[in-house]
Amino acid sequence: MTELLYLHDGYLREFDATITAVDGRDVSLDRTAFYPGGGGQPADTGVLEWHGEQSRVAEMRREGDAVWHVLEGPAAGGAVRGRVDWDRRYAIMRHHSGLHVLVGAVYRLFGALVTGGAIYPDRARMDFALEDLSKERVAAIEAEANRIISEDRPIRVRFVSREEFERSDLTGFDAQADGGTHVARTGEIGGLAITKTENKGKANRRLEIMLR
Ligand SMILES: [Zn+2]
Repeated sequence: MTELLYLHDGYLREFDATITAVDGRDVSLDRTAFYPGGGGQPADTGVLEWHGEQSRVAEMRREGDAVWHVLEGPAAGGAVRGRVDWDRRYAIMRHHSGLHVLVGAVYRLFGALVTGGAIYPDRARMDFALEDLSKERVAAIEAEANRIISEDRPIRVRFVSREEFERSDLTGFDAQADGGTHVARTGEIGGLAITKTENKGKANRRLEIMLR
């Protein structure tokens, strides 16, 4: 089982760990700050270092309770130091948090729920169960989102049991229960622009955001 350090500290960029299993170039650690991907947020990249050597973490995979780091070079055993590619991860965290603000703005203005989404280091997108997405509505959503960002509100991460998660999921409250990484305050997002809208079918509209 891998302890998921990023759940309790999204700002952790370096950590010490022990390799618990090796499978070719894949290593499993007892703890990791690397986000393994999921919920629309891509897996982290970075390096693992040991005895003066290092190898890049090119991919991640999750298998049961274990998180595997897929290395570019050959793996070693024992103690390692992990270093997350921080600029990339922080950009992803800001876009992820920006999506939460967007979701809040769309729900508050039009009562529309999320149908899907994806996060990248330079942009993010979210699909909403929404029929009408006029220019005026897009402008209103953008203004509301930027108002929330400028208020520099704290972003609180709450941990729920699997049972509670599934229950919330069933009632449609899924936007916040994602297990990803977030910035601590909305002010860190800086500001967002809705750069693209797409019609993805009846009552399904896609909004793409980029941060300023
Ligand atoms: Zn989230």
